[in-house]
Amino acid sequence: MKILVINCGSSSVKFQFLHTATRERLAWGNAERIGEELSLFTYKNSKGFSKTEENIRFANHEDALRTIVNRLMDPEVGVISSEKDINGIGHRVVHGAEEFYSSVRITDEVLDVIKKFVFLAPLHNPANIIGIEVCRKLFPEHVQCGVFDTSFHHKMPKYSSLYAIPQEYYTRHHIKRYGFHGTSHRFVSSRVAQLMFRDYKRLKIITCHLGNGASVCAIKQGVSVDTSMGLTPLEGLMMGTRGGDMDPAVPLFLMETLGMSLKEVNTLLNKKSGILGVSGKCNDMRELHEFIANGDESARLALEIYCYRLKKYIGAYSAALGGLDVLVFTGGIGQNDEIVRELTCSGLAFMGIKLDRILNIDNNRKESMISSSDSKVPIYIVPTDEELLIALDTEKVIKGIPIED
Ligand code: ADP
Repeated sequence: MKILVINCGSSSVKFQFLHTATRERLAWGNAERIGEELSLFTYKNSKGFSKTEENIRFANHEDALRTIVNRLMDPEVGVISSEKDINGIGHRVVHGAEEFYSSVRITDEVLDVIKKFVFLAPLHNPANIIGIEVCRKLFPEHVQCGVFDTSFHHKMPKYSSLYAIPQEYYTRHHIKRYGFHGTSHRFVSSRVAQLMFRDYKRLKIITCHLGNGASVCAIKQGVSVDTSMGLTPLEGLMMGTRGGDMDPAVPLFLMETLGMSLKEVNTLLNKKSGILGVSGKCNDMRELHEFIANGDESARLALEIYCYRLKKYIGAYSAALGGLDVLVFTGGIGQNDEIVRELTCSGLAFMGIKLDRILNIDNNRKESMISSSDSKVPIYIVPTDEELLIALDTEKVIKGIPIED
């Protein structure tokens, strides 16, 4: 089947058009700065065409989606001749609350429920909803499927998913640890089992998804039993602009003692912290290394905090799992950054985790094992492919095949 995968942000639409049988990406790209005076449109296809247009304007998401579909059907750079060649549309949806435990066909009822729980993900779900609504308007005959970042984590036991606050805040107000990046953790954990020729349902796996956002997941017998993000993607690891774990009294202190407003604290914790906050320079790991190479001490400290916290999670999740069969790195940093992997794994030989220094450097970006031959725990790089999983789920939804969660 040929599936259009849509990842809709507040001012952007990322898309991929995939062939599920061959797993080939036929076309992909990004519409950015939607609603601004000048937008940006990047379109690439599998035949090597690649172009970014700067003299284009998308007044709204509908404009952007129309352009995407027109480009897919373009006689020169397109990959299909008519809309009928699109077999279905898969949407990334950030938050599925406690309603969606698996990918679902989007109906009026499903959309109403997603809307009802917007308050749990006010930064992300509204944009996802716009993408769904526009696609339903443009393609009323096509099956639309919602794939949720949270659903992989829905089986987390209560002792890891509940906060230690009075339970009524969970039962009445839905405050609990939901976790995110579920599509990525699900993809790379099941993929690593294949690479190891092992039964997924018998493995204890830790997956580290390190991108601009970052999270760790502990997976036992195919089930996410703990993950570092919580009610929102702010909890857990240090990230590009998010601070991750901290004493919950810090925001109280910022408001009560420093007189900061709720909005200011929100901006500080979500947009000005993490790598950016500590280094004071950048939120991007590649740039951070450049600052470090030029002797910047704050940049070095940011890297040290980043890796130290990740190391702590690996230790904690090994304990939570009662052992570890494989450690996986993915995401832009996880896949590409040998220094982060090296610093994170250093000193973990006592737990049977030993990187091979050469493999760690040589095998960037590719699916590969990077642990030393005497490491009890294999360590892998597995590039994530959330879009492929969304497309495969969409195909299953169309065919009525149950999806393993
Ligand atoms: P997103 O979470 O937005 O999908 P990515 O998974 O692309 O982001 O990860 C972005 C991060 O990956 C950035 O910090 C970027 O610097 C880092 N990154 C990408 N390529 C490399 C590289 N070759 N070496 C080190 N870091 C990299």
